[in-house]
Amino acid sequence: MSAGPAPAAGYRRLSVPARAALWLAVYLALVVVPLFALLPDMTTPGAGFVWDFAMALGYAALAMLGVQFALTARFRRATAPFGIDLIYYFHRYLAVFAALIALAHYGVLKAVYPVLLGAADPRLAPAHMTAGRVALALFVLLVLSSLLRRQLRFEYDLWRWTHAAVATVAFALALWHMLAAGRYLDTAWKYWLWAGYGAFWLALIGWVRLLRPWLVARDRWRVVEVRPERGRVVTLALERASGRPLRFRPGQFGWLTLRASPFALKEHPFSIASSADHGDQVELAIKELGDFTSTIRDVRPGETAWFDAPYGNFSCDLAPAARGFVFIAGGIGIAPMLSQLRTLADRGDRRRHVLVYGSRSFGRIALREEIEALERRLDLAVVHVLHEPDADWTGQRGLITQQVLERHLPRPADGYEFFLCGPTPMSRSVERSLAALGVPAARVHSEIFDWV
Ligand SMILES: Cc1cc2nc3c(=O)[nH]c(=O)nc-3n(C[C@H](O)[C@H](O)[C@H](O)COP(=O)(O)OP(=O)(O)OC[C@H]3O[C@@H](n4cnc5c(N)ncnc54)[C@H](O)[C@@H]3O)c2cc1C
Repeated sequence: MSAGPAPAAGYRRLSVPARAALWLAVYLALVVVPLFALLPDMTTPGAGFVWDFAMALGYAALAMLGVQFALTARFRRATAPFGIDLIYYFHRYLAVFAALIALAHYGVLKAVYPVLLGAADPRLAPAHMTAGRVALALFVLLVLSSLLRRQLRFEYDLWRWTHAAVATVAFALALWHMLAAGRYLDTAWKYWLWAGYGAFWLALIGWVRLLRPWLVARDRWRVVEVRPERGRVVTLALERASGRPLRFRPGQFGWLTLRASPFALKEHPFSIASSADHGDQVELAIKELGDFTSTIRDVRPGETAWFDAPYGNFSCDLAPAARGFVFIAGGIGIAPMLSQLRTLADRGDRRRHVLVYGSRSFGRIALREEIEALERRLDLAVVHVLHEPDADWTGQRGLITQQVLERHLPRPADGYEFFLCGPTPMSRSVERSLAALGVPAARVHSEIFDWV
């Protein structure tokens, strides 16, 4: 897929914070406008503050849960100002908030108006009331199973499937409950507004689960090389069957599907490790970590692949005026750094850059020779930090600490942009060290590999 249609000139002139503010306003409007639409032409007399409040909670929860589908729909323009990882965090914590609001809707009614709620027994209760209760239970289940996925050892692909299916069913049940209960939907236009609003989110699910995979499926890629590297890393080189180069910014990532249909929801995110100036062949550096990544070594040239890209805003191209770049990587976090360094080298960049790279031992520094080649092509200082080095290693030992950074950062560091990618504890600790060294947070860009 291409980078999508170019944004309108007015949008392009907006700064990144202004774009973020615009999309936040869109989010708030999507949640709040349907609520205010309930207020005019009210023909049912109000039943007191507590009742109205409980109803408002129900509508607010439904509106928020609807927008949840948009948050994970990977709309490039809307996600770009924030970064897709932040959007997923937003999705996760808003889900908790929305589920709490839905629980409060039920809890207040149960506490204050138990008679109006009626029997809980599905054999006695109206079907739409049972639908509401089931939807609530499913929402709570969705939130808990997502927050505790790792602790529950819920396999990722299975979790993803059930999460999508249960969320769709729960939302449809909640919509039915709301339309059939019909409180405040006493005029036709309000009824159809909310019915249309619900249908819109259900149609969005159709787009995400059917139409987009169909578009991805039409854009076939081919594996052209599988290259084992040091440190249990495999480089996978891909070419588009159509021959059309991929346009991307160095440091961006895509979703890879191999040996499965794009409809199967078995895609995995990987940073592009190759140069953005050579979009005709895209390389991914994949660390063997689990079920999927351990199969990459067995992939054969000629196999079909799908690569839905580009995504993300972890890119030196977004800071063209920087004096130079400091890349701080741990393990396979080197992948998006390589893409940026290779692109800078291809463009004949003359600025001073620093790469601080944490690995286990010298023999396991992934893509070490590639980095040495880049040192020759760029004004690049490379600092390897090894946490289990051999006895004869004379370089930096241990972790990437504040002392290590202080020793190797460019002086003065003003005007430099900092890019971090590695295990979350490393990224968090380096962020703290950079803050302690006086680097403004706005100059620090992090890519997180384990946000799901
Ligand atoms: C933006 C981004 C860029 C990444 N770039 C790289 C890279 O360049 N090189 C690299 O080696 N790794 C990269 N990763 C990590 C890579 O996606 C995971 O290591 C891989 O998906 C794990 O799959 P597995 O089945 O082998 O491992 P498992 O052991 O099955 O899963 C380990 C963990 O990886 C995550 N995961 C598993 N499957 C998926 C999936 N389909 N989608 C999202 N997350 C999943 C889950 O949190 C899971 O708990 C990146 C991740 C992100 C988010």
